[in-house]
Amino acid sequence: MPRFAYVNGRYVRHADAAVHIEDRGYQFADGVYEVCEIRDGLLIDERRHIDRLERSLAELRIPKPMSRAALGVVLRELVRRNHVVDGLVYLQVTRGVAPRNHPFPAEGTPPALVVTARSVSRAYADHHAEEGVAAISVPDNRWDRVDIKTVSLLPNVLAKQAARDAGVYEAWFYDADGNVTEGSSTNAWIVTGDGVLVTRPAEHGILRGITRTVLLDVAARLGIKVEERKFSLEEAKGAREAFITGATTIVTPITKIDDRVIGNGAPGSVATELRKAFHDFAERSPRWSHG
Ligand code: PMP
Repeated sequence: MPRFAYVNGRYVRHADAAVHIEDRGYQFADGVYEVCEIRDGLLIDERRHIDRLERSLAELRIPKPMSRAALGVVLRELVRRNHVVDGLVYLQVTRGVAPRNHPFPAEGTPPALVVTARSVSRAYADHHAEEGVAAISVPDNRWDRVDIKTVSLLPNVLAKQAARDAGVYEAWFYDADGNVTEGSSTNAWIVTGDGVLVTRPAEHGILRGITRTVLLDVAARLGIKVEERKFSLEEAKGAREAFITGATTIVTPITKIDDRVIGNGAPGSVATELRKAFHDFAERSPRWSHG
């Protein structure tokens, strides 16, 4: 079955999909992106993802490539054409194509939009969550504006590869004070000895994950006490539970950080409960976009 991608106004075969060599995303990482979960053929938390996309674009002064309604149509059409039931949709907007020069291109240069969609086995993700995964810690060497979801992900790529080289799933960044910021592609959480859920405030130093935002609601509704505060790597290593969140991992327990086993080495009850409840709270988009 052929896969399709959306590239600047056209649905094309994935194998043939290409952008211009002077796309500013390619040359300067001058662009932003979103990854949205697809479950039962429906987009999860589309509204929040598009809100965050618009914020990222505004922070970088990249014009919107199209209206929300039109974008909703493209996302759905691509999910449909690729027959995705469970998986993800990826969308990227760059500052467009222009002769290579650092300043922004001429006013009116259209932003470039690429969308892809693919199936991901739900069983595979569930397996990770049931077993728990390990993480290593790495110094956070990213720029200051990690609140913007840019495609400039080289430190994240190197951190994730360091994790893979160590035979583990994720890398947790820690800042100059020894506090955990976030994972290379996930937000970081712990549960303290007395059952308090802790995650770093999203004002500075991390991306405000959509999964994180929804999970704060889930925790409140389940009556779990939450503290949005910084926590150190040492505190994390001594925590009762640790876990990561993201659109593709939902809630995935961390059972080891560096050489320290977390809790009893098995996924904790809080993480497991939150994972189970997550999709009762996340928004499922209607099959048809209303803008
Ligand atoms: N932090 C980083 C650095 C990420 O790349 C991601 C995933 N895009 C997240 C956190 C989690 O965000 P979300 O829950 O919106 O997927």
